[in-house]
Amino acid sequence: MTEQASAALKRYGNFINGCWQDACGGGYVTLTNPSDGTDLALIARGRADDIELAVTAARDALSGIWGQMTATERGRILHKTSQAVLQEIDLLAKLEAQDVGKPLTQARADVVALARYLEFYGAAADKVHGETLPYQNGFTVLTVYEPHGVTGHIIPWNYPMQILGRSLGAALAMGNAAVVKPAEEACLTILEFARIAHQAGLPAGALNVVTGLGAEAGAALSSHPQINHVSFTGSSRTGEAVQAAAAKNAVPVTLELGGKSPQILFADADIERALPFLVNAGLQNAGQTCSASSRILVQNEVYEQVVAGMAAHYAALKMGPAEADLNLGPVVSERQKSIVESYLQLAEKDGLQIAAQGTIIAGAPQHGAYIRPTLFRDVPPEHALAQEEIFGPIQVIMPFKDEAEAVALANSTPYGLVCGVWTSDGARQFRMAHAVQAGQVFINNYGAGGGVELPFGGVKRSGHGREKGFEALYGFATLKTISVYHG
Ligand code: NAD
Repeated sequence: MTEQASAALKRYGNFINGCWQDACGGGYVTLTNPSDGTDLALIARGRADDIELAVTAARDALSGIWGQMTATERGRILHKTSQAVLQEIDLLAKLEAQDVGKPLTQARADVVALARYLEFYGAAADKVHGETLPYQNGFTVLTVYEPHGVTGHIIPWNYPMQILGRSLGAALAMGNAAVVKPAEEACLTILEFARIAHQAGLPAGALNVVTGLGAEAGAALSSHPQINHVSFTGSSRTGEAVQAAAAKNAVPVTLELGGKSPQILFADADIERALPFLVNAGLQNAGQTCSASSRILVQNEVYEQVVAGMAAHYAALKMGPAEADLNLGPVVSERQKSIVESYLQLAEKDGLQIAAQGTIIAGAPQHGAYIRPTLFRDVPPEHALAQEEIFGPIQVIMPFKDEAEAVALANSTPYGLVCGVWTSDGARQFRMAHAVQAGQVFINNYGAGGGVELPFGGVKRSGHGREKGFEALYGFATLKTISVYHG
């Protein structure tokens, strides 16, 4: 980029202690609009020094106004912030569309979800309480939930606002102070959110945002000795590094990682109702969703019917620039595009059969990161396309004979995030729900992550710990037992 072009771009500093601050090292990272490949903005290249400032600001907030507030007062601030977010929905949705590449309607839905997380956790803040425990005569024993202290939040690029809302909302409701490290590919809405929350009354230092590269700012955050809890959402590989770094300080970690989630359809299912879920839950956000149903398993008797039904849905899909607001936008970056293309090349080399494709609209910008939505059929279960998280608009469909084979196939990947089951047999619904390895199971529906109220998280390589719902509040707190001897 020329110096002149760089000077024309909006620059974002880190948001520390209620103020914008340039990175200590003075550097910037360029964000790109994936719809057309143009430069979008410059974000501060934070490093260990910036994380240090943010952690100090968070500590000060805990010993200042924020730390003194009652749970009810914290809840009111979250509620006010939720309303302020909705007032800025046009700005936030436009930025998310430009930054991530998601169609405007989806970007607006993400703003609403962010506001809903803040509303939910604002209302929950003063509903968390401990217990009194029966013990020996002469004692009263009780438990109280206390905040961890300073929580670190490492956020990916696919749903910056939603993932910020679910993790930060619960952390602040419980009285923690936060340092957030958004992804270097897309983070403008998180920076704007920091401003909005501060203007809505969140005291300085309660929320700090440091942008930059994962290997610099992210690594410095997860290994900082004064971080008391780390919430990480991202790839399994980075999750391992974050957990190892936090282990050196013996602090708890929540890992929300990847998935290869199946939807399993039996011959007795309502196929017409299932079809839009089979397609949309796999392709939402151009397939860049941790809970995307990228594997479709269908009982032999109705296999051809479902392939044909999905193909009809694919034929109607249009992909184009985010602001054109079609079914799908581009993937987030040229880098992500080349990762997805490497799977398409592998599929071609191994002779996998394409069952259906969507369309990239004529006139889509040449430098946009577009990949045609594609459904592959009869994919061998052990093939990389059926085992690995692709994180693009690609699905595979394969047949199965009976319930036992469906369970074996569903559980055959290293992941266990979400599973959908379509059947009208009530007993089978429960058998399947218990037999599949997943953190969430949807029967005759598929939530692609589910609602704000529903605990969410994985098993196996999809991670551990739960976010969303009331459950998340306990993860952002530590339980203290108080035993009083009074004779
Ligand atoms: P990623 O792991 O590359 O990056 C995620 C975040 O980690 C970014 O903020 C990045 O800067 C940071 N990071 C990178 N290296 C780091 C390091 N060494 N130390 C600390 N932080 C570091 O993941 P991604 O490509 O941004 O996101 C895609 C992945 O996230 C997919 O695997 C997807 O399934 C997963 N994901 C999971 C969920 C969930 O809730 N389970 C939600 C969204 C995305």
